[in-house]
Amino acid sequence: MVHKYAPVDSQQSPRFTGVKTFMRLPHVRTEEEIDFAVVGVPFDTGGSFAVGTRFGPEAVRSMSSLLRPYNPGLDIDIFAYCSGVDYGDFAVNPGYIEESYQLIEEQLAKLLKHRVVPILIGGDHSVTLPHLRAMAKQYGKVSLVHFDSHGDTWDAYFGKKYTHGTVFRRAAEEELVDPSRSIQIGMRGSLYGPSDLKDGEALGYRIITTDQLRQLTPKELREAIVQRVGDNPVFVSFDVDFLDPVYAPGTGTPEIGGFATFEAQQYVRNLTGLHIVGFDVVEVLPDRDPARVTSLAAANIAYEFISLVAWGKRANGGL
Ligand code: MN
Ligand code: MN
Repeated sequence: MVHKYAPVDSQQSPRFTGVKTFMRLPHVRTEEEIDFAVVGVPFDTGGSFAVGTRFGPEAVRSMSSLLRPYNPGLDIDIFAYCSGVDYGDFAVNPGYIEESYQLIEEQLAKLLKHRVVPILIGGDHSVTLPHLRAMAKQYGKVSLVHFDSHGDTWDAYFGKKYTHGTVFRRAAEEELVDPSRSIQIGMRGSLYGPSDLKDGEALGYRIITTDQLRQLTPKELREAIVQRVGDNPVFVSFDVDFLDPVYAPGTGTPEIGGFATFEAQQYVRNLTGLHIVGFDVVEVLPDRDPARVTSLAAANIAYEFISLVAWGKRANGGL
């Protein structure tokens, strides 16, 4: 394979220059000669509280220009092992969730057909349903590794089945994921009732709450994840409200008592060796993110995702 797509050299042109693409990657709408594609999914009709995550992708791209190509946490020079582009944004139809789901699924299918690993940037969490629909068509039922303060397994919001709070119930019902090989991590905060968490378990998911995760080392969390997903194809979904609002104020439904960005980095970085076929990071709401720390955090989470793609390439013989 010819490794032709890599970021602009920031030693040649300063990082604040140029049109903002993710990590200063070339904006090329190709499915060829790439291992991963960063894609914006600017859709926020599924939000139940504050909306505006449709502007998440552009804010994350803006802060991602700070990223450098060598990841010391994994000791990897990313673009020595892989090629990737900023694919741009998927087309959506604001206000029309089912039409947008159709559009997102179709556009994502095109990338998956070429075995490209998508790094999807939301948007509210409702977009993960069409992500999983496309994944399941390509790979069969996937294992979900889901970081979030919410389980998003409610049945309906305001009588509606498709929202950012109902995604993982729909995913289980539609058999897009195998809940018995999936895990939800970080649940906390006030609930409508005691059944909210049990409902997730009743669907078959394993849940590690924030209180439980506080008792685990990153390595122990990794072991729990590996034990759960095995060698099944994995989709990783990271809702930025997994982080404490101190670290991620720019999100629609914040929950206090959460994790630091340092901890999230450790947890994600430890997902080496899994058969990960796709990632998303969702729920960045730039209008509530005055110092842009949420966008910066999301950019760095996506960077860890890309690093995992590179790590996988290196482990499998690299070039
Ligand atoms: Mn969520
Ligand atoms: Mn959430």
